[in-house]
Amino acid sequence: MEKNNEREVADISNLQDDDLFCADCDEKIFKMVKVEESDFEFSVLAVCPFCEGESWRKDMKGRYYQDTVDGTIIEEVTADGNDFTIKVKKR
Ligand SMILES: [Zn+2]
Repeated sequence: MEKNNEREVADISNLQDDDLFCADCDEKIFKMVKVEESDFEFSVLAVCPFCEGESWRKDMKGRYYQDTVDGTIIEEVTADGNDFTIKVKKR
């Protein structure tokens, strides 16, 4: 039992924060946290709900937990192969 607990703590500390920030207004647009290594390669760009801008396109690899920033919702996700564009808008 104790051993399992120790491993869970170690796993959580390995989580890698890859949040997307607006290149124009520097606000956090979309939350991405790597939860597991995998061979899945993709890229993500998020359209900013706070200004007319967007984030840089970011290359990622692995499995990610995704979540919206407080006060925002995902309006649309489009994919060109493994290149995803997430359009976020204010709730
Ligand atoms: Zn912005």
